Amino acid sequence: MSNSDFIKFLDLKKLNDSFEPSLQHAIGRVLDSGVYLFGEEVNGFEKEYGAYIGTNHCITVGNGLDALSLIIRAYKSMGHFQNGDEIIVPANTFIASFLAIVNNGLEPVLADPDIPSFNVDYSEIEKKITSKTRAIMLVHLYGRNAFQEEIRQLANVHNLKIIEDNAQAAGCEYLHQKTGSLGNAAAHSFYPGKNLGALGDGGAVTTDDANLAFLIRAMSNYGATEKHHYPYLGVNSRMDEIQAAVLRVKLARLDRDNEIRRQMAKTYQDLLCHPKITLPLKIENHSHTWHLFTILHPERDQLSTKLKKEGIQTQIHYPIAPHLQPALSKFSELNLPHSERIQQETISLPLNPILSQDNILYIAEKVNLLA
Ligand SMILES: *Cc1c(COP(=O)(O)O)cnc(C)c1O
Repeated sequence: MSNSDFIKFLDLKKLNDSFEPSLQHAIGRVLDSGVYLFGEEVNGFEKEYGAYIGTNHCITVGNGLDALSLIIRAYKSMGHFQNGDEIIVPANTFIASFLAIVNNGLEPVLADPDIPSFNVDYSEIEKKITSKTRAIMLVHLYGRNAFQEEIRQLANVHNLKIIEDNAQAAGCEYLHQKTGSLGNAAAHSFYPGKNLGALGDGGAVTTDDANLAFLIRAMSNYGATEKHHYPYLGVNSRMDEIQAAVLRVKLARLDRDNEIRRQMAKTYQDLLCHPKITLPLKIENHSHTWHLFTILHPERDQLSTKLKKEGIQTQIHYPIAPHLQPALSKFSELNLPHSERIQQETISLPLNPILSQDNILYIAEKVNLLA
């Protein structure tokens, strides 16, 4: 197999080239304007992304982790959360979801996900609620909606905030509402590899809560409400004009790209049939954006090596669950059988809008053969 036939897990250069010449134009517009922060591009992107998600407020920040952290920081400042309060979080999420909680002095309470949806069911969340629970962090992991009406009921009954981690699910819907508009506040990431990726870091908070939005906007800019006035202890976490200009171009194609992802996922679902494989729970509507197509296989490292020999690059999301990371060792004794099985068996197949249908057919054929 020649080098050019090698199927990368995600070829970001090729993906971003597919937006030319629009990206060059957008960056050129910023260079011409001489405005690098707090300008028309950020303003425009906040309006467009807020309208897309369907919330009254959209505040851009430096990255997805900051978006999550600032939501918690603002709720602390409003008196909703205090040090030591608990937030329920999926045990199999990316470590950022945990860090936002721990770094703000709150306690993550880990909920074991369901297999094969890889999301946490409301009944599992309900078991984790204590008198100290203040919020549920809902992670739409791999791009799949994790919201259930029962979760809203739990939140109402126990007076909990719902914080969505929408980092992997830009464009995902629950019924006809976008994820990121379903809870009290949502964090978004525009890390280059996400479904809506910048050319560097970027993030946003969406919410209908005007007070929360006001605080987050202040806190993301040193705590300033106006120049030289700092009523809050803030951080510096802002999106720059270049990233906002880039994201405006890419937002316009997000629905099309997600549709391509859905068709590729359907092809995988239809073709993959090896008995050793556990496929992700089947879904054919807009409640999945297929940021990742993860399957389980008991010998996934061998499978990964064999696929690489056939010119197919795979990745592991994630090889070590957060509670088994050295930084979070105080959680290492928890009994989380599904998270640990996922950590041991998960393997992500290439799926992104610049692959061809032939690529997907080829990958499916090789996986069936080599699994
Ligand atoms: C990527 C990601 C984040 C963090 O986003 P950054 O922009 O990289 O800070 C948070 N949560 C989840 C689930 C993610 O996948």
